[in-house]
Amino acid sequence: MSRQRLNYHEILEIRHLTDTAFIIRFEKNDLEFSAGQHVCVGPPNGIHTREYSIYSAVDAPFIEILVKEVENGLVTPVLKKLKAGDNVVVEEPVGYFGLNEKKKDETKYLFIASGTGLSPFHSMVKSNPDLDYKIIHGVRSAAEGYERSEYEKEKYVLCSSRDKSGDYAGRLTNYLQEIELDKETEVYLCGNCNMIHDAYDILENKGIANEQIHAEVYF
Ligand SMILES: Cc1cc2nc3c(=O)[nH]c(=O)nc-3n(C[C@H](O)[C@H](O)[C@H](O)COP(=O)(O)OP(=O)(O)OC[C@H]3O[C@@H](n4cnc5c(N)ncnc54)[C@H](O)[C@@H]3O)c2cc1C
Repeated sequence: MSRQRLNYHEILEIRHLTDTAFIIRFEKNDLEFSAGQHVCVGPPNGIHTREYSIYSAVDAPFIEILVKEVENGLVTPVLKKLKAGDNVVVEEPVGYFGLNEKKKDETKYLFIASGTGLSPFHSMVKSNPDLDYKIIHGVRSAAEGYERSEYEKEKYVLCSSRDKSGDYAGRLTNYLQEIELDKETEVYLCGNCNMIHDAYDILENKGIANEQIHAEVYF
């Protein structure tokens, strides 16, 4: 990528949520997106970028991403050290992981996330205040229930597999097995591929049609 074509966005704020997870808020400039899309973001040298789902609402005057530092990763340890006033390189928002705009007012949604896979759902919920949704969020420890107070209490279930401080002690797939699902629900899955495969099987067994299951795989 030639240097002239890099799109620099100034960092406005970084919120560190845990030792490894943080939110970067940067200038929106002229970027437009729909909730569920992702952007490629990288440190200012522009050599490496990675995909990040947009966390903020479509009408917010900035863009936020929720990042988890990966040990020995190429990009995340560098992003974690950036400060307000530094720049990030940001490419155009892309992706098809989103709500059906024509049907969203009459649809019931189930959002299933592992870890930072919560990010696109935060954007969908904040962009659509009247959405009929429930989030099932799977994490290891309840501290990873990122900004959980942002969601109405009865619409967000934190499943923590390694401690008992979430709403459900155990993996999200165990929780999913135990609950009743309305067969009309549109289900969105986001996060690591093992969770997505396991959840997909459970949903199929519970009679959710393939066309109603949407997935975004992070790694
Ligand atoms: C469409 C899309 C959206 C994404 N959105 C987000 C997001 O909103 N937030 C976010 O934190 N990440 C997101 N990712 C993952 C992100 O793009 C990077 O893979 C991640 O940040 C690691 O980058 P890195 O350069 O530090 O590690 P790398 O040097 O690229 O990779 C190191 C290794 O870590 C694995 N890995 C990647 N992510 C994780 C993880 N969370 N936990 C454990 N291992 C991992 C990779 O598969 C690789 O094997 C998304 C990926 C995709 C494809």
